[in-house]
Amino acid sequence: MIPARKTRTIRIGPLRVGGEAPIAVQSMAATRTQDIAATRGQVERLQAAGADLVRVAIDSPKDAEALKEIAEGIHVPLSVDLQENYRMAEAVAPFVAKLRYNPGHLHHHERTKSTEEKVAWIVDVARRHDCAIRIGVNAGSIAPEYKERYPGDNVGAIVACAVEHCALLDGMDFPDFVVSIKDSDPRLVIDANTRFAEARPDVPIHLGVTEAGMPPEGIIKTRIAFEQLLSRGIGDTLRVSLTVPFDDKGQEIEVGRQIIDDVSNGRFRSVPPNFFDGLNIIACPSCSRVENEKFIDLAEDVKRMTEDAKEHDITIAVMGCRVNGPGETDDADLGLWCGPKTVNLKKGEATVGAFGYDEILGQMRVELDRLIAERT
Ligand code: SF4
Repeated sequence: MIPARKTRTIRIGPLRVGGEAPIAVQSMAATRTQDIAATRGQVERLQAAGADLVRVAIDSPKDAEALKEIAEGIHVPLSVDLQENYRMAEAVAPFVAKLRYNPGHLHHHERTKSTEEKVAWIVDVARRHDCAIRIGVNAGSIAPEYKERYPGDNVGAIVACAVEHCALLDGMDFPDFVVSIKDSDPRLVIDANTRFAEARPDVPIHLGVTEAGMPPEGIIKTRIAFEQLLSRGIGDTLRVSLTVPFDDKGQEIEVGRQIIDDVSNGRFRSVPPNFFDGLNIIACPSCSRVENEKFIDLAEDVKRMTEDAKEHDITIAVMGCRVNGPGETDDADLGLWCGPKTVNLKKGEATVGAFGYDEILGQMRVELDRLIAERT
């Protein structure tokens, strides 16, 4: 049930992705990168669960130092997520097989340099260290120039961004790249990846529904997107993002393989037509940027506490850090993003305030009741 994919095959260290290569399943370490023992333990756990590739987040020179030690003796190829700090590429490239940059984060540093210059620099680092690249586009962090060019059309903006960054890498004669276009809404993920695959049928695609949240809803959202895309021959590697305790991260690999196996064998799960009605809680899967480990309990408490609001069409986003939290809560009706000591509460794009971990649930309940009263 998975048609032959038309993409070219690229090399990520020892791994082959795209074309006739098996669909690779990957995950990301959620531990603090500088906690070497914990991160190494998690990479080993993911490796034991059968991951083809494991990503680690890098934000600082200390993270890069830690990565050097983490990489020693690890057999699974590693990838790094450069996020806002694309200049860290040089320090980490010797230890990894792939560099991921987000076009939406390139504008944060060295504002006088053009996007082309920054991408050329990343490509040069990748070439010198024999790394592949992922152009990782995210609907929650659209590059400002694309927001301006596509007002009110997020899918148009992210697809154009992905296509134009592919053209940049083509122009630099760098073929070993994949593209991901992610969002927390599987419908957007299906639409954007289908449009991208039409525009660039040759480029291998990394599938993911970001911030899918906790099982079982997180698995259902991911399955909806992957079933629709894999059955159209779209998707060469994938990651399932789940908000689960650190020790259970291997579940992301198991679920990814199960979905591939089910789609291959025609085992589709029916999607109830009302799946998107009512309360929608999105939560990030957590990673090394989480500054307070109470985040996962908080996500579960939010779910428990809002049981009685299930029939209301309201989206609540719970994010683990200040890097992606502020932007990725903008589209939610209520957003919570976690800092070291406080949790920031938002209503749409407006900030309500920052509250202690022991106060936030009460404050969120006040805002939720207010929202329900306004809408009813
Ligand atoms: S929101 Fe922050 S903590 Fe959560 S996965 Fe994204 S970068 Fe990591």
